[in-house]
Amino acid sequence: MKEILNGVNISIIGLGGNGQLASTLLSSLGAQIRLIDGDTVEQSNLQRQPLFDEDDLGMNKAETVYNKIKNRSINKKLSFVREYVDSSNINAILGNSDLIFEATDSFLTRELINEYAVMKKIPWIMTNSYGYFGEFMLIVPDETACLNCLTGGKRMIPLNCHADQISPPVPSTVSVMGTSLLLRYFQDRIKDENFYFYSATLMELQKIKVNKVKECRVCSELIFEKLNDTKFLGRQIF
Ligand SMILES: [Zn+2]
Repeated sequence: MKEILNGVNISIIGLGGNGQLASTLLSSLGAQIRLIDGDTVEQSNLQRQPLFDEDDLGMNKAETVYNKIKNRSINKKLSFVREYVDSSNINAILGNSDLIFEATDSFLTRELINEYAVMKKIPWIMTNSYGYFGEFMLIVPDETACLNCLTGGKRMIPLNCHADQISPPVPSTVSVMGTSLLLRYFQDRIKDENFYFYSATLMELQKIKVNKVKECRVCSELIFEKLNDTKFLGRQIF
């Protein structure tokens, strides 16, 4: 199990709650990991982002996580990028990824990553947390439904989720479950076609099968609106 991800290039975008435990776990499995985030640590993050403490306030999140987990990396192939991913830098940052673990809080960035992953045929894991709920899904271009097949281009709920409304354990739960989905894909090549919905109030995990949409603008018609929008900024959340 120790070297299951040996030589695999994994980019983790977003080092808040959804990305932290994934980074911690994957760093000890042999993967070459790139940690990507332009954001800085704030007081309000500490409650649900367990790698950060008060000494990290004001520091870049990707660099801080790098410093916290660098000694866990069995092959020391760990790097960080202090930038938000947007249409102008996505190719430079994600170019050689074998897999992308998306852990941003941004619907637009998620849609941008979906377009890029479909164009480059890079499998990716989508994660999302809000309130007492978490969501995650594996997307393997050409083989499973893409994010746009799921949403039809509509923003996923909620439209206005404030960070202070997220139940503290939910992002970590999503991070660990998303990591399991990733390992299952690499270990057994299981192309899971389910969208997973976790409820911390019901303590339930629901799976919803998502079919590829024949007329999907992204994975069928290959229309990449976000990638072609040079004004698109990854910082923008909604
Ligand atoms: Zn699609």
